[in-house]
Amino acid sequence: MAENEMGLTVKKDEDFSEWYTQILNKADLSDIRFGIQGFIVQKPWAYMIIRKIYDYLEKEVEMQGHLPYRFPTVVKEKDLMKEEEHAGFTPEVFWVSEAGDKKIEERFALRPTGEAQIYPMYSLWFRSYRDLPFLAYQSRNSVFRNEMTTRPFIRGREFMFFESHNVYNEHQEALDQIKKDLETCDEVIKKKAKIPFYYFKRPQWDKFLGADDTFTPDTVMPDGKRNQLGSTHDLGTNFAKAYDIKIRAKDGKQQLAFQTCFGPGIWRIFAAMVGIHGDDNGLVLPFDFAPVQVVIVPIIFSKKKELTEKVLTMCKKLETDIRKMGYKVKLDDRDYESPGAKYNHWELKGVPMRLEVGPKEVDEKVVSLKLRTGGDKEKVNVSDLKKVIGSKALELDKEIEVRAQKYFKGNVREAKTLKELVKIMKEHRGFVKVPFCSVEMDGEKCEEEMKAETQGGRVCGTLYPKEDKVAKGQKCMVCGKEAKHMVYIAKSY
Ligand SMILES: [Zn+2]
Repeated sequence: MAENEMGLTVKKDEDFSEWYTQILNKADLSDIRFGIQGFIVQKPWAYMIIRKIYDYLEKEVEMQGHLPYRFPTVVKEKDLMKEEEHAGFTPEVFWVSEAGDKKIEERFALRPTGEAQIYPMYSLWFRSYRDLPFLAYQSRNSVFRNEMTTRPFIRGREFMFFESHNVYNEHQEALDQIKKDLETCDEVIKKKAKIPFYYFKRPQWDKFLGADDTFTPDTVMPDGKRNQLGSTHDLGTNFAKAYDIKIRAKDGKQQLAFQTCFGPGIWRIFAAMVGIHGDDNGLVLPFDFAPVQVVIVPIIFSKKKELTEKVLTMCKKLETDIRKMGYKVKLDDRDYESPGAKYNHWELKGVPMRLEVGPKEVDEKVVSLKLRTGGDKEKVNVSDLKKVIGSKALELDKEIEVRAQKYFKGNVREAKTLKELVKIMKEHRGFVKVPFCSVEMDGEKCEEEMKAETQGGRVCGTLYPKEDKVAKGQKCMVCGKEAKHMVYIAKSY
């Protein structure tokens, strides 16, 4: 067995950071030895799961009427500077200023996000209210930011991206789309990937650069840090103004268009699946996401050739049959590994279901089935296999979902005073619900003070669309003024 295939040597609860590093390496998810900091190789086992996240997102947005576009990877400097707040991205961008041995006259950037490259084209495309609403998305590409600290699938200098960029006649249409973006997050992140999260409306001082409002699905990782799984933004007419996206309205008057953009964090969703579902033996994957859903392990201890043949013949037939049923199946017939080593290997990789076949199983026309989430080994008649794989897949998914929800609930606490908050942030981190004066700009002072006291706690925002009620007479835990909101505090990556 290769050295990097040996099991995890650290417990997730004891040292999550080291556990995460080990699982990326030992389950062969990424390689950080590419040689430029913050740029990694995404290995097949990770990339196949990531592609599945893309499949689901694309299906959801296309059902809403979004069409796929492919814009270049680069953006003009002039366009990047057009929206004053959005130009705040420029300290993070990589510039292309030379080609061969010549200086490029007008340097351009590797795109840090999509707005500045897409909206100049939008200003050419729309003339009348009849051209709207316009729903577009880009998928399976990447963006570049010069991050100082990087971590595979959490923060990179190049990372996987998905974005939708929409244009409307009315502001209400923008608000409706934000609700749909929330539904997309619910469907893909919560229902499919089994990652529980809160949907926050961000405080005014912590919005996307240039947006009127920012909404984010946030979960918590096992080290108690907030993991932002995406964002959707009400851009109002800010970008339309900067990029000159005007249309002739029904009444004949020229008006600025309203816009939203939505970006689920592909890598962050993957990191949450790894971190939240995984255990001390390795990855645990929801059935649909697993690159291999069923692994068949022949149990051969005898040296008798005839017996070996009998077992392998049945295993091969099972593999063909299960593939025909529509499942992703693999027969692990490596003759240089013991069954035990194979169990460990596929558990590390998070394969949901294992079928064991030995001489006894061949005689009885059964297989021994074991789920990655635990429970007893079960004997299943080969003739029932199709039905049983289907029902066991549901059982596994339910177990993953229940565990994740329990974990998430266990990471949400409440504090009434700053002292209580400081204590919780020291002992547990996670989300802490607190009374707070304001999520408008005047609340930022209180965040500053709270951030210093808690060594890095930030206001995530208020729950959306249904904000928590503030009890009568509640005071802001920092300044003591009347609390207008219940907000959630967390440290983040
Ligand atoms: Zn306050």
